[in-house]
Amino acid sequence: MKKWIPLNKPYQSGNELKYIQEAIASGTISGNGIFTKKCQRYFEKRYGFKKCLLTTSCTDALEMAAILLDIRQGDEVIVPSYTFVSSANAFVLRGARIVFADSRSDHPNLDVEHIKKLITSKTKAIVVVHYAGVACAMDEIMALAEEHGIYVVEDAAQAIDSYYKGKPLGGIGHLAAFSFHETKNIISGEGGMLVINDEQFKERSEIIWEKGTNRSAFYRGEVDKYGWVDIGSSFLPSDMIAAYLYAQLEQLDDIQKRRLAIWNMYNDRLKDLFSDQKFRLPKIHKEATNNAHMYYLLCDSIGQRERLIKYLKDKNIHAVFHYLSLHESSYYTKNYSDDELVNSAYFTNCLLRLPLYYEITEQEVNEVCDAIAGFSFS
Ligand SMILES: *Cc1c(COP(=O)(O)O)cnc(C)c1O
Repeated sequence: MKKWIPLNKPYQSGNELKYIQEAIASGTISGNGIFTKKCQRYFEKRYGFKKCLLTTSCTDALEMAAILLDIRQGDEVIVPSYTFVSSANAFVLRGARIVFADSRSDHPNLDVEHIKKLITSKTKAIVVVHYAGVACAMDEIMALAEEHGIYVVEDAAQAIDSYYKGKPLGGIGHLAAFSFHETKNIISGEGGMLVINDEQFKERSEIIWEKGTNRSAFYRGEVDKYGWVDIGSSFLPSDMIAAYLYAQLEQLDDIQKRRLAIWNMYNDRLKDLFSDQKFRLPKIHKEATNNAHMYYLLCDSIGQRERLIKYLKDKNIHAVFHYLSLHESSYYTKNYSDDELVNSAYFTNCLLRLPLYYEITEQEVNEVCDAIAGFSFS
């Protein structure tokens, strides 16, 4: 019996336990400790992000973004339908009405032409999701936002170390959110980060992060006592989480190199196998880079995909579909509308993710490709 090939396997890069021990030995393991600061500084230095705050998840970072943008009842927020539920939920929690935009026909990323049709005088923000770490059309989106006085939040959960026309993703919108969930490239189990690119949000972001208090300013000696000054919540991760994350960040180049090599192994083999376009392979637009977050196939129909999933499972290979269009979710249709978004529906039905993780071997990638080659698509 062949070994089970999972979709994902969390990778330990080496120093995780050592740094957790160091955090414990330091005597402070609550939030905003030594490793939290090291991680934040790493991102600020490497990518030039103005200000970074670690959070317990990307979901939390998005919730912070919604508070910072002062989203309230009556505001509209444009979100892709083909995304994780948190991209929308964070704004629903503040009372926003979500307006779902469709994907491009060739990629799950937002269709800019559709966004243009959805903007109204109530639109307060656009949430862009860089699907599979591939950049959305940021020049067009930022220009639209500027023209209409709208904020842009990058859901960069999948987009670490990826670029758009040479600019790092997460550094383009007014705010951005990253995830270090175990399914992403760089992980800490659960974990996330808010990036503040627009200066006007810098001061308030720390307050919201620290439960609505000005504790950060107090520790810097800027105020002589700290208290309740705004709304907020407990968004800081423990420093032990940051210690784990820092060990991963030290190995970022190695992790990215390995993932890209695996991605290219898939692409080289499947490109040759399926030059007759029986199904389609992932697209990387020319202004975007590939951070090898994900390798996927696009089947012809949900039925074909179901057959392929079962066929691969019988060969001990775990291939998994991805998002269910949020505009068709029971929560949304019950409260709002039942619009049709054809491209989002297409990716919901046809996209299939293949195993991709640091420790997958070349032989295992070949096994997956051999299996796909043997599948009858008709
Ligand atoms: C993973 C993911 C999230 C959620 O990240 P958490 O850290 O689990 O909250 C949000 N949006 C997108 C696009 C994701 O891929």
